[in-house]
Amino acid sequence: MRGAEEIYSCREDLGRFSQRFLAFKRVSEELGKPWFEAWIERLMANYLEGKIATRIPVRDRTEARAFLALWNGASTWNRLTEPYGEGHENQGFLSWKPINVPPNLRLKPEPNPDPVDLTKKVKQMAIFLGANRVGIAELNRKWVYEETCRNIYDPGPPQTKRIVFGDVEEPQETETELVIPQGIRYAVVTIIDLNRILTQVGPASLSTSIATNMAYARMGITDIALAEAIRMMGYNAIPCKNGTALSIPLAIDAGLGQLGRNGLLITPDYGPAVRIGKVLTDMPLVPDSPIDFGVTEFCNTCKKCAELCPAGAIPKGERTFEPPSETGNPGALKWYVDGKRCLRYWIAAGASCASCQAVCPFTKGSFWGHRVIRGLIKHAPLLNPLWVPLDDLFGYGRMRDPEILWDMKMGPFGIDPSKED
Ligand code: SF4
Ligand code: SF4
Repeated sequence: MRGAEEIYSCREDLGRFSQRFLAFKRVSEELGKPWFEAWIERLMANYLEGKIATRIPVRDRTEARAFLALWNGASTWNRLTEPYGEGHENQGFLSWKPINVPPNLRLKPEPNPDPVDLTKKVKQMAIFLGANRVGIAELNRKWVYEETCRNIYDPGPPQTKRIVFGDVEEPQETETELVIPQGIRYAVVTIIDLNRILTQVGPASLSTSIATNMAYARMGITDIALAEAIRMMGYNAIPCKNGTALSIPLAIDAGLGQLGRNGLLITPDYGPAVRIGKVLTDMPLVPDSPIDFGVTEFCNTCKKCAELCPAGAIPKGERTFEPPSETGNPGALKWYVDGKRCLRYWIAAGASCASCQAVCPFTKGSFWGHRVIRGLIKHAPLLNPLWVPLDDLFGYGRMRDPEILWDMKMGPFGIDPSKED
């Protein structure tokens, strides 16, 4: 079984990260107002000009308003499940306590649990409740945020609470701390696919924001429902969305993908066009092993995301242990993306950007030829220089006409039907 340390490398001094340094918080502080307010101002100005981002005109204002309408619909679902998750630990439906479990079943699992059987069942539940893929990680406490930041989207002094592990029976919140029981040893990590076609109207556009918000909404519903299912089995469960712990390293530990140059998890089936949810639990489970399908070697050659990033936020050089700003956590060997540059570009565009997902050669449909090439990337890295020019030649990663939203084949909840088996 390959260990995580063979897939990524961390310095001894790598510390836990605080949400006070997330780009959303730092950029709001620098602007002196919530980043979202600045973003909405630009978004509304675009709409009045009949655009869905600064450089993307649509037919007329009615057309622009239809994009706004769908964005608001998807965002509403996301808001209902505590948007994005950071800063929202133990709030609303992201409660750390059972919501609908009869008191006589709470924390009373059946005797003699079989971790193999429980793992099989919890994975099946995760898929049924909305995940595209699921894996189990042994919880490395290094990946748990050092503190939450309650005013994460606002300027002003950070309102933080430490996240600690304690000898408690159930997760708890005090005036100053969020306390995770020592027995919480696993993360059930879920992959939620993003409608990749919608991310290809851009680089920044409202259709990208629609796809992203819908993925977060599905993630919220999946995490919250899965936590309740686990609690009904008699165990503790903490639904997280983006909050509580860093999602990407947990997803790598859970065998769901590898880290790319674009700072995103690259999954075998969906490339980087995904969001990652997780539920922390003390249910006895069997962890998965990290996978290596040649992403690091491929990214060494490719650089497509870095060359096309409109904000210049993705490095073109080698991996390092040092981030370009305080929004990254030093000590992990990787390509550090400059989160502040990225978010400032979103604000200037009045729409979120997903160019680094859209143009990535791993973001593909399910055509059999793509599977063959993925196999060659894994087993014949010397051929890697061939694939990027071929990708360009076939027009992959090209930006699409915004009108595609109204004509494309679409599954319920915006799921891309071409990606499922
Ligand atoms: S890093 Fe940010 S600005 Fe650059 S391509 Fe990715 S989302 Fe866009
Ligand atoms: S676009 Fe290329 S360099 Fe960037 S993450 Fe994808 S494979 Fe790696």
